[in-house]
Amino acid sequence: MILPDASLGVLGGGQLGRMFTLAAHSMGYRVVVLDPDPHSPAGLIADQHIKADYRDRAALQMLGDECAAITTEFENIPADSLEFLEQYCPVRPGADAVRIAQNRIHEKTFIQQHGLATAPFAAIYEATDIDEVFAGLTPPLLMKTASMGYDGKGQLPANTPDEARVAFSQMGDAPCIIEERVELEREISVVLARNINGETAIYPVAENRHENGILDTTIVPSAADASITATAIDMARQLAAAMNYCGVLAVEFFCTRQGELLINEIAPRPHNSGHFTVDACATSQFEQQVRMMCGLKPSNTQLLSPVVMTNLTGDIWGDSDPAWQHVLNEPGAHLHLYGKREARPGRKMGHINCLADEVDDALEITARIRAALNI
Ligand code: AMP
Repeated sequence: MILPDASLGVLGGGQLGRMFTLAAHSMGYRVVVLDPDPHSPAGLIADQHIKADYRDRAALQMLGDECAAITTEFENIPADSLEFLEQYCPVRPGADAVRIAQNRIHEKTFIQQHGLATAPFAAIYEATDIDEVFAGLTPPLLMKTASMGYDGKGQLPANTPDEARVAFSQMGDAPCIIEERVELEREISVVLARNINGETAIYPVAENRHENGILDTTIVPSAADASITATAIDMARQLAAAMNYCGVLAVEFFCTRQGELLINEIAPRPHNSGHFTVDACATSQFEQQVRMMCGLKPSNTQLLSPVVMTNLTGDIWGDSDPAWQHVLNEPGAHLHLYGKREARPGRKMGHINCLADEVDDALEITARIRAALNI
């Protein structure tokens, strides 16, 4: 067990690292962030910020020497760096789990190998694979880069072999998947915390709405049928066990109009669709991340209030900051800003959690705020 006053390391200094740092600090831990960006949101508030590339062995060694355990806040950290750090201290989640999640081909293959469903897909390693994979898939189809894609980036429609060849070359001839576009009834996600002994705590299922591939709104509880949410929870638990996972894991699902439940992707870290836990649950997903890396038990995931989370992207910043008084004067609304200096369209700058006794009331508060901020 790693107890307060120990130093915890986090690879990546974005908003997830910042909220991890806030949780760790309030529990009495020190935090060392490794992120090349001198203005990274987590680096600004950490006890120590090592400003270096994620492959810089001297910087990794410094992090390993300083810390009692290390975690990661985004899945594109080179898995080799995590493996290197494993010689110094526990790295949770470990390189093997992160390696699965950072490549869509590995991820979807792993999911299917464990008897869990994904949208039908095929891997494309070279342009010459394209004609063959079209034989087994039914359009409409989407091509997605196997690695480094997030928030809808690295995705293009590819409904004919010719379109797929153009898309493949636009994506830099890098390995891709091509996947059937499914008809969505809704999207949901499950966030869970699992410790080194396999003890697991699971948050209530979140319902997610995306705009242009970016999460826009999360609503909890979800309006999905109880049988669907129970199955999603069961699938997430199975997947975490199959990965021998230690840490916070998010599993995103498609609920199709045909009643299927398909796993879209997994994130080996706290997730944007779990931000509701900070204000609406007994324990936040970031406290769980601290607990899991420290060898503690997962804590209570109970939902204390219905909640609607709204993401704030750079699009709503004009020449001046948004009129925050419309959020701050609204009882039940909790504003979270990440301290990013530059607002760009699509860049996640913060979020708002609106709590109320009923989901409909939380949606009403959200609608008032959206109108006032022009979201
Ligand atoms: P991803 O980056 O794979 O999570 O995709 C971002 C968003 O695009 C998803 O949350 C969905 O809203 C949409 N999307 C991605 N893949 C599919 C698909 N196969 N069928 C329908 N919608 C999809």
